[in-house]
Amino acid sequence: MTDSHYLLRFDDICPTMNWVVWEAIERHLVLHQVRPILAVVPDNRDPKLMWGPPVPDFWDRVRRWQGMGYTIALHGYQHVYVNRERGMTRLTPNSEFAGLPYEEQKAKLEKALAIFGEQGIRVDAFVAPSHSFDRTTLTVLTELGVKVISDGLWPWPHAGEDGMFWVPQQLWDFRPRSSGIWTVCNHHNAWTEQQVEAFGKNLAIHAGRMTDLARVIQAFAGRPLTIADRVAAFCDLMWNHRIKAVLWRMRRQLSKAGHAS
Ligand SMILES: [Zn+2]
Repeated sequence: MTDSHYLLRFDDICPTMNWVVWEAIERHLVLHQVRPILAVVPDNRDPKLMWGPPVPDFWDRVRRWQGMGYTIALHGYQHVYVNRERGMTRLTPNSEFAGLPYEEQKAKLEKALAIFGEQGIRVDAFVAPSHSFDRTTLTVLTELGVKVISDGLWPWPHAGEDGMFWVPQQLWDFRPRSSGIWTVCNHHNAWTEQQVEAFGKNLAIHAGRMTDLARVIQAFAGRPLTIADRVAAFCDLMWNHRIKAVLWRMRRQLSKAGHAS
């Protein structure tokens, strides 16, 4: 795998999500035989993820996905932010974990994993709500046997000295990329029919370049983090900040123009 491959990730999978949109997405996944990472919230308490009544057979569905080769990832415990910590990724100022003491993080992650255990579901990765976690979170995860994390802006996966296998997540939509493993993160609850259709078209275009977590782990197990990885991730982060700064300036100018008229 030296050229570009894409990995799909869907966040906020829980009993009250938007199932109408999900079922349309799943038809595209099945058609193109794509096996995504599904980031499941084991005990969701976040009202923003409540789009309808809970489906009664949620865990049957999760077991079925696991049987189809989809990766089931732990997406926090209750998806409730308790502070404004950005954590290690520095991406967004909300966290369910970062900044909390070891014991508190351990208690949350143990409760989260116990729910999967009761349901007979294996957890193959961690996806932090709002990309926010710290070194303590990683220590607890490795102690509890979760040793793969989906986050970071490097172009390639690597085995970290922290005992974690890092699979980067750099995109929020399909973008042309020449080389690397590119995880496209999706939040489907508010998707319109047009967005579902665009997603289907993108899958058809990229079908030959899609991969899954099992293949990525097999191909990159033991690969160390390189200086080139760090430089690429730093440039990506700067570029993201630059775009945000430009958008912010544009918004300010537009609002000034609005006041003047
Ligand atoms: Zn989330």
